[in-house]
Amino acid sequence: MFAAEFATATRRIDDGAMVCALVGQGISQSLTPPMHDREAAEQGVDYAYLVFDVPAARTADLDLGGLLDRAADVGMRGLNVTHPFKQRVLAHLDDLSPDAARLGAVNTVVFSDGRRIGHNTDWSGFARNFDLGFGVDSADPVRTTSVIQLGAGGAGAAVAYAMLSRGTAHLHIVDADPRRSEDLATLLGAIFGAASVTSGSTADAHAAIATADGVVHATPVGMAAHPGMAVSAGTLRPDLWIAEVVYRPVVTELIATARAVGARTLTGDGMAVHQAVDALRLFSGLEPDAERMTQHIRELIAAEDLGVPRSA
Ligand code: NAD
Repeated sequence: MFAAEFATATRRIDDGAMVCALVGQGISQSLTPPMHDREAAEQGVDYAYLVFDVPAARTADLDLGGLLDRAADVGMRGLNVTHPFKQRVLAHLDDLSPDAARLGAVNTVVFSDGRRIGHNTDWSGFARNFDLGFGVDSADPVRTTSVIQLGAGGAGAAVAYAMLSRGTAHLHIVDADPRRSEDLATLLGAIFGAASVTSGSTADAHAAIATADGVVHATPVGMAAHPGMAVSAGTLRPDLWIAEVVYRPVVTELIATARAVGARTLTGDGMAVHQAVDALRLFSGLEPDAERMTQHIRELIAAEDLGVPRSA
């Protein structure tokens, strides 16, 4: 599988380029490859970011270990790994960053001295973006003592880990599938202490938001393909902050509604940018320019005609 992609990788590496790739299913429209390629080009570095888009029918029997072997053998710098391989890849790695080990999920594999090291830049990307927009690196940090999170899937696990790592004393996670929020709360409770994470159903969310400092939204609701809001408009208030994970469009219905009531908002494109910033740094040793990459992703999303990006 991926003979043409490996041929390209080999040719580009022979030409002196750094080569990386994204492995996942249904990723042909991912904005990560153009973000990496453009930022490396801006820095004058010969770099190629390829896409290994695994067909749904081949996902179950994909030889992921063999794919990693081959990528390392031809001299690639590393791989980003996305759905549905973020957990499966763990079995094929030599080492994990402490955070990836605790989360049990890897989105970035770096090949280094014959070893494969797994990292998770989903959580670090969300955390960095949060610190810049709402936290220690912002002009006016928000309170994050008590936070409600909607969505306990792949993105939800990373952002919940980020909030607890940043010091949230109590995170309440709700999901349309209560088993998912329960499982995530159990995983994170074992790391951060059972009292710091609770879970519930979406029916709980209304009452929980009333006493919370802020809301992290990590369900697909609000994407162009899933319009609407998972948070009821009546729960929004000016002293509540909203951190969004959805970023296509950048201004989701939740972000627009929260802004209309005067709440502070953080859009989801920042997480997408900073996970790429952290991965590009790990692959290349470059120091990416996050502001330039933000401008670029907003151009890319605007060109998709999903919505008009506005400043956070
Ligand atoms: P996922 O399918 O793994 O998880 C989504 C979760 O949301 C599921 O557990 C589902 O039960 C729950 N859910 C769905 N509708 C709900 C509702 N109305 N109320 C409560 N829970 C509900 O998906 P994911 O990979 O976690 O992605 C979620 C969203 O995050 C997507 O829109 C994706 O594009 C976005 N995302 C953004 C970034 C980024 O960098 N900004 C990164 C990853 C994912």
